[in-house]
Amino acid sequence: MNVELLIIGSELTSGDKLDTNGQWLCRRLASLGLPVRFSTLLGDQWQDNLLAFAMAAERADLVVTSGGLGPTQDDLTRETLARVAGVELLEDPASLETIRAMFARRNREMPERNRVQALLPAGAEALFNRTGTAPGIWMQAGRARFACLPGVPSELKLMMEEQVEPRLRSLGLVNRVVLHRIINLFGLGEAEVEAKALDLTAREHTPEVGITASDATISFRIRGEGPDEATAFASTEPTAQIIRERFGVLVLGEGDVDVPHATVAALSRAGLTLATAESCTGGLIAERITTVPGASQVYRGGLVTYATDVKSSALGVPVELIARHGVVSAEVAESMAVQVRNKLGASIGLSVTGEAGPNSSSDAIPVGTVYVGLATADSVHSKLLQLGREQPRGIIQSRAAKHAMNWTRLTAILRG
Ligand code: AMP
Ligand code: MG
Repeated sequence: MNVELLIIGSELTSGDKLDTNGQWLCRRLASLGLPVRFSTLLGDQWQDNLLAFAMAAERADLVVTSGGLGPTQDDLTRETLARVAGVELLEDPASLETIRAMFARRNREMPERNRVQALLPAGAEALFNRTGTAPGIWMQAGRARFACLPGVPSELKLMMEEQVEPRLRSLGLVNRVVLHRIINLFGLGEAEVEAKALDLTAREHTPEVGITASDATISFRIRGEGPDEATAFASTEPTAQIIRERFGVLVLGEGDVDVPHATVAALSRAGLTLATAESCTGGLIAERITTVPGASQVYRGGLVTYATDVKSSALGVPVELIARHGVVSAEVAESMAVQVRNKLGASIGLSVTGEAGPNSSSDAIPVGTVYVGLATADSVHSKLLQLGREQPRGIIQSRAAKHAMNWTRLTAILRG
């Protein structure tokens, strides 16, 4: 089964726009067991379109195209396909009606030039586009079955799922489900995780397991396969089980679950609440926690106490403590955590104070030095993080926020 993509648009070949449709289609088709063999990016030139379509019609079994279905002169897909299939373009009355109705719903008269969008190569079937004007095209040309979709990413995705995939299934082309199960971890480096999982990531391991890292969150990616979704998922379960047992509390969860979600979930399960006092992270923890649905059950609020004197005036960190130990210190982090916990009436007070760079205010404290404080009813502790003096400010802030949230998560798990 040869699957080919033709990704059309001069805004793509010029570099003005990034082709995201190609990536999405490659993933989607691979998950259906139809991996893409060729993908061509081409501009809105007639000769180039003819050549690319003719070649695909000869060598592929399935061709998915993106773009070129608009109403303007440079939209060539309809004509190209008709020429390659050796048929005429005919007006499809049903498509014309759909396009008119689309304009009518927007209280507009259909401009005459949109009429060309109702043209279809003879013998083609229109693919209904419920969110835009241009219908897609489904037809045989040469050896290949063509599915032509609009370039607008949201329309392309919807039409692929709702129009193309059911047709592929009824042709018996999709009889396998390939899925990727993602298990996320935080608290170990990528190399350390890999070292503990060499048996799983070995080339010959079934199912296939990969490791990726993104902003210090490490993800295992398990490839599952089977005749249906349930079987494909079940084929990943023994490996998922091994990962959960081996990495224990380091496992955050699956899919999109990252440190903030897992932190909110752990607090919620333990029936604990959180208050934050942030300095060098400038409210990043508050922002990330509050993007998680359900945060209101566990998050009391936070203070961004950036200037040194505000740590005293707003939080009540003793002036002498700051004078004695410096503002970036274990003592100040602990005091901030205790104070914010009391002021906001939370079970856990969490604080961050550090040097995010690019310049450090003191030689003794290199850029990347961050203290995190954590206070509960009966304890207060702090942790020193060395996040790297060469790291950019944004990375230091992001890592500091993640480590602080993760400590909260682990505390909630222990106390829950
Ligand atoms: P078209 O269907 O060629 O008229 O494209 C309509 C819109 O979709 C334009 O804003 C394009 O920039 C965008 N678009 C077209 N092709 C792609 C692509 N491959 N990836 C992302 N956006 C695209
Ligand atoms: Mg275009």
